[in-house]
Amino acid sequence: MIITNKTKLNLVIGRPLVHSQSPLLHNFLYKLLGINAVLLAQAHTDLTLLINLIKELPIKLTAVTMPYKERVIKYLDAASSEVAALKAVNTIINKDNKLHGYNTDIDGIAFALRNIELEGKSILILGAGGAARALGYYLKNNNAKLFWLNRTKKKAAELANLFGGDVITNAEQIRSNVIINATSIGMLPNHNISPLPDYQFEQDQVVFDMVYNPVKTQMLKSAMKGKAHTISGINMFIGQGIKQIELLTNNAIDTKSIVSRLKKFLEKNQ
Ligand code: NAP
Repeated sequence: MIITNKTKLNLVIGRPLVHSQSPLLHNFLYKLLGINAVLLAQAHTDLTLLINLIKELPIKLTAVTMPYKERVIKYLDAASSEVAALKAVNTIINKDNKLHGYNTDIDGIAFALRNIELEGKSILILGAGGAARALGYYLKNNNAKLFWLNRTKKKAAELANLFGGDVITNAEQIRSNVIINATSIGMLPNHNISPLPDYQFEQDQVVFDMVYNPVKTQMLKSAMKGKAHTISGINMFIGQGIKQIELLTNNAIDTKSIVSRLKKFLEKNQ
């Protein structure tokens, strides 16, 4: 895509943004889908200034990452039901200078788990931060049986209270059909560690790691050895990004033709 006087500017805001892959994902898809826009990273420390910028320029799409996911809520004119439930925003769409907040992490989770039967299944969730909260919301709506395991037990208890399920203290305590890592353990540069270093994964288990850099985490490698079905966090990342672009253009994207190309591109450029 050639940048012209008609090219629109979108942003990802957060701090620090050194590991953000949103510019890669968005700019690849803009080119592929013929969208005359560019997305740039903006790590300014003054959130009020960033919000004014979004309104003044104006910026149509702003992807929001840590530490602004909660803090942007007070600047919104409207929020989706997911934002109201999760108290976290990862996308702002500027419609006629009114800021609308969305949480497309839910769409990312739905995309990653689209082929997995969840109803009535026992799901072990590792972690109790923002990603685990989005997971709890999605899994509750899919009638799964939840088990929460987190370093800080109190936070696991809070999510069990919100979305149902039991708090456990050891992964071996239950027989899980699906295991999901929603902690940051295994992320680059600490990619040689797993949240379940001694766990024996089995063939009939599904193992989803929300960490997406690296694509093949230590936990997924162990799960592969046990012949479990594995899902990389890159699927969630792609799903949440595609939904952001659908919100931007108001058009549905046919994912079938683009997902494998996008995955290869992101993996190569991580
Ligand atoms: P967060 O709110 O900061 O929560 C981090 C979680 O990890 C907490 O449960 C924390 O436990 C746990 N944790 C961190 N370091 C630990 C350690 N050394 N030992 C044990 N537990 C540890 O972060 P988040 O936003 O939920 O993100 C969690 C992960 O999900 C990150 O890797 C992020 O990249 C990934 N994510 C991926 C996508 C995607 O699109 N694939 C989207 C969102 C997030 P405590 O409660 O005890 O502190």
